[in-house]
Amino acid sequence: MEALSAFFNCPPIYVDENDAARVFPELFDAGLFELLECIVSDGDLFEDCTEWTEYVLDILEYLSIVSSGTQHWNGTEWADNDPDDSEDDEVMWIPPDLNDFRHRLANLFALTFQDAWARRDLFVVGCRNDLYHVEDWVPSSGDIRSGIRRLLFLSPYLRTPPFMQNPNATQAFRKLCLLLWMSPDSDFDGADTLFAVVTSSFDVEPEKQQAAFANFVVEDMVAVYGALPILERICQALKRPEEGLGSGLHCTLFVGAAQVLTCNDFWPYLSQTKVFPALDYAIDYHLQKYPQKDTKLEFNMVFSTVKLAHILTRNAPFQSGAGFLIRETNIVSLLARFIVFSLNEAKVSEPKPFMDAIGEWIKIASALSLRSGKNEIRKKFKQSLRHEWYPTLKRLRTTACSEQARREQVLDVWTALGTAIGLEEGKAKAEYEREMKHAAQFCAWKDCRFHTVKPDTPTRACAGCDEVRYCGKPCQQRDWKEGGHKLRCRRIKAG
Ligand SMILES: [Zn+2]
Ligand SMILES: [Zn+2]
Repeated sequence: MEALSAFFNCPPIYVDENDAARVFPELFDAGLFELLECIVSDGDLFEDCTEWTEYVLDILEYLSIVSSGTQHWNGTEWADNDPDDSEDDEVMWIPPDLNDFRHRLANLFALTFQDAWARRDLFVVGCRNDLYHVEDWVPSSGDIRSGIRRLLFLSPYLRTPPFMQNPNATQAFRKLCLLLWMSPDSDFDGADTLFAVVTSSFDVEPEKQQAAFANFVVEDMVAVYGALPILERICQALKRPEEGLGSGLHCTLFVGAAQVLTCNDFWPYLSQTKVFPALDYAIDYHLQKYPQKDTKLEFNMVFSTVKLAHILTRNAPFQSGAGFLIRETNIVSLLARFIVFSLNEAKVSEPKPFMDAIGEWIKIASALSLRSGKNEIRKKFKQSLRHEWYPTLKRLRTTACSEQARREQVLDVWTALGTAIGLEEGKAKAEYEREMKHAAQFCAWKDCRFHTVKPDTPTRACAGCDEVRYCGKPCQQRDWKEGGHKLRCRRIKAG
């Protein structure tokens, strides 16, 4: 207790960074860990929410940065930093036994998260500290939330046994992430990372973790917050992506959301929340915001949406499953995107899941074609497919593909889908060419007066794709920026 007071009378967080190399080894030798272990194992770290609470959170944050040493967590293991990469922070001090240091620190995090979850009533939005916040030296609940959030963000540093093998700690960690994601502080832009962190924390051993993930969604998401509020929050995250989210995290957030939606508790609200259009929006946003990035991320997003649609068509009644997807989503263009990817994606080299996904739609198309020609769903499906089918066939024949056998297999499947709903290639081709010829006479920019009236001089094609035509440069520039041709052009070319 004496050491404790002495320690906190001169909190080390105020030490200059240059002094840290001197101060921390001394504190470490003097028993900093033993002291922290003593503080957090009491279970009352958050009790009074005093300055102490904040100091302890700050020190844990600092120590976790120290614990990386000259390494970084690459997602699976600790890897040495590139010595040439000056971006990495200068290392101030490396503990003598790094493994032991990480081990003990992970244990401290485990205890802290469990304590924080148990006493969340002391720092959630609207808690008693918010209501009776009178004294300046008492940190606000927002300060505490921000301290906890910073620790949650450091989870990559925690992939050590005492934390990962402690189910209570892992649970508390996930629940805290979810809590702070569901009620984000308005002055903080970064809460969505917490959602990505939670869903990806199940990826370590996909097979074993699937049941754990499904459990988490039902018990810790739906049962605590309700399916609709969760779904609305997901839509918000998809439609208003946080600025600072990198391409990898944006993809992780997306894939996590698609996985969460496979839980049937959400299905009654899919239509009213317009979550599928939000997923579409997020894929386009991704392409526009990170144009130079790996197509692997884009594929993961498309694939996870196709999987979600597959689970929905197989397990929901027709009207709220396949019928809903045809009526209210861009399922056909999603399948078209997916099939072009499947020519080259390593993940579908095992043809089973991919064949299953498209095969299911061939069955649906065959069943629909038996219905009356006036059936709305049949009409809608055929109409959407008419737009996408032939151009996609064309793309599948011209896109580079390393295995000819794969190309033929993919072409067969896509042909079968069109045939099943009653499309014929000859007719579809003639129709497509007629449309292209017709469109070629007009300016493609939707706000141009020559969009509907034929201009006096012939239109000129976009050099990028050679498909879209404009009356002149100004319209091309506007369509590129405002009309999103930048995106489509890339997709046409890539296909
Ligand atoms: Zn124009
Ligand atoms: Zn173009």
